[in-house]
Amino acid sequence: MSSTWALALHGGAGAIAERAYKREEEHMAALLDRGSAMLARGESALDVVTAMAEELEACGLHVAGKGAAPNAAGVVELDASLMDGPTRAAGAVAALRGFVSPVRAARAVMEHTPHVLLVGEGASEFAAAQGLERVADPKTYYVAAESGLPGSGTIGAVALDTNGRLAAATSTGGLGGKMHGRVGDAPIIGSGTWADERAAISCTGLGEYFMRVNAAADVSARIAYAGQSLEKAGADVIADVRKLGGYGGLIAVDAKGNVTAPFASQGMKRGLASSAGLREVKTF
Ligand code: ASP
Repeated sequence: MSSTWALALHGGAGAIAERAYKREEEHMAALLDRGSAMLARGESALDVVTAMAEELEACGLHVAGKGAAPNAAGVVELDASLMDGPTRAAGAVAALRGFVSPVRAARAVMEHTPHVLLVGEGASEFAAAQGLERVADPKTYYVAAESGLPGSGTIGAVALDTNGRLAAATSTGGLGGKMHGRVGDAPIIGSGTWADERAAISCTGLGEYFMRVNAAADVSARIAYAGQSLEKAGADVIADVRKLGGYGGLIAVDAKGNVTAPFASQGMKRGLASSAGLREVKTF
């Protein structure tokens, strides 16, 4: 066991310059401290990113979980995924209806099925069978977070623990007014979420572009194949998204405890911390 750990959180790349994000930043600062303490006392990266994502879903301040907005058919459908770096075990749900924590459902897919991704009705049936908490009344539960650009308030968490293990989690209500049945990058392993022995990444922004550049996995591939630093790899992936006409950002940590959070958008709600003394909560 070493004393090196690192943690990054995001609340989406849709923040707009005209708005203040004081409540979001205060909430994220408290959560960052909680996650940092968990990592410092030796908890696993997988448990920490799950706990962080669950809380970001429950707070209603971002377009995920309680803060999600309905799709064009007026229905709230949620996407989430998570990945464990050392084993590359992964779980995801897409177009999930009626459950409080999509990331918990994703973790159950990872731990209790031979599959990686369950969608729609099958995902709901599975979540119910797992005894996961249901939304009592969707009409009163969802608060439709005010997030800026249409529907951009995905949440994510990435961590390195003191045993050198990396993990990543992402959860979203997707783009506001999305087509019925539309699934973005957040539940797609490799696009919105990735973790291996080199890095853990969670993305936010226009998911169609993140899928087309295989964004999350490409950060790690650039480190492996091109010998890039985490910072350069993250920046180059976001530049690629931008070149195609997309916008967004990502958070990433590597096995050495480096942390990066590049974005090409007006802002990205984020919190970064590490055992090296980094502690930053910013939106712009
Ligand atoms: N990436 C998400 C999606 O396309 C949206 C977001 O990050 O706000 O569903």
